Amino acid sequence: MAEGSKAKKIFGHLKSEIHMNLCANCYACMAVCPTGSIKLKGGRPVLKGRCSACGLCYDQCPQLKSDGEIKRRIFGEMDPSVMGPYKKAYFGRANSPEIMTVAQNGGIVTCLLASLLDSGYVDGCVVMDNDSKWRPIPRVAISKEDLIECAGRKYTPGPILAGARDARELYYLEEMALVGTPCQVKALRCMASDKIEARKITNYVKLIVGLFCIKLLTYEGLFEALKDRFDISLSNVAKFDMNGERFIVYQKGGPKLELALNELKQFSFYPCNLCKDFTAELSDISVGGTGSPEGYSTVLTRTKVGEQALEIGMRSGACEAELLEVDPGIEPVKKISSQKKQR
Ligand code: SF4
Ligand code: SF4
Ligand code: SF4
Repeated sequence: MAEGSKAKKIFGHLKSEIHMNLCANCYACMAVCPTGSIKLKGGRPVLKGRCSACGLCYDQCPQLKSDGEIKRRIFGEMDPSVMGPYKKAYFGRANSPEIMTVAQNGGIVTCLLASLLDSGYVDGCVVMDNDSKWRPIPRVAISKEDLIECAGRKYTPGPILAGARDARELYYLEEMALVGTPCQVKALRCMASDKIEARKITNYVKLIVGLFCIKLLTYEGLFEALKDRFDISLSNVAKFDMNGERFIVYQKGGPKLELALNELKQFSFYPCNLCKDFTAELSDISVGGTGSPEGYSTVLTRTKVGEQALEIGMRSGACEAELLEVDPGIEPVKKISSQKKQR
């Protein structure tokens, strides 16, 4: 449906128009449903209760919206660039060995959020965590210790906006930071630009941190791949990592295992095959390993809020960052962004 259409569409339309295999599992439709009738089943939203035909779920789905209007609202006439509008590019990392050992690419997201909590800039952070079997679960982190427990990249999609709803309804947070993949960031921005009911969560999100993302795997696919290839279950895994074309599995008390990324191709999360956003172009600040030396992350500040957040992190000494004038630099980020736009 064209953005701005007046026809009211409800959950049935949403279900048929995105065929559910395009569902990015963002939880936006569930988070806004006033009757609480949309539930997750097998990672997909299903209607399980009374529908008042308000149309909010349909209106929020990021998979049915273009981001042109949202970009204009957030960034005005800023130079678009293939990575989306941004002010400055840095490379940076945490200054804490405690964070650097558990996080990836220098741990700048974890240390930045910890410094924002410490300074009172935000009163909580919504991040993805996982349970003992690596099922992704959203978490509301209100301390540095919480953040350290959740540190590390996740490789399967999870309903981050459920965490934002919990942050508001259970923790009563007034000013939160949220960390998400590009599709999750878009879902949040769609909600922020829509009707008042949809803004009951987004009004309290002060900072959006976007993560660079090429693609994720389905949870079932990851489970199957480890079982078939190594005969291990997800509960035996201590940590995952990615290095170039290799997917690395650190076992609890066992040897490190490696898979070629190509071997996991068949287990890709379907919406990723069509996704064109690598750097989370709608976020306040974007972070990812591409472009920076090993042990560091590339950081793109996009909005005033994003710049403020990085400044607080640096001023507090929690993290260090310098302009990205080192190899490999911004070119690989541009290259992958451009390749992703061809999908
Ligand atoms: S009540 Fe509204 S948001 Fe909930 S399923 Fe029906 S149309 Fe969608
Ligand atoms: S709003 Fe999000 S969770 Fe709901 S159908 Fe769309 S992509 Fe899926
Ligand atoms: S590749 Fe796109 S659709 Fe897939 S998880 Fe990343 S941002 Fe979402």
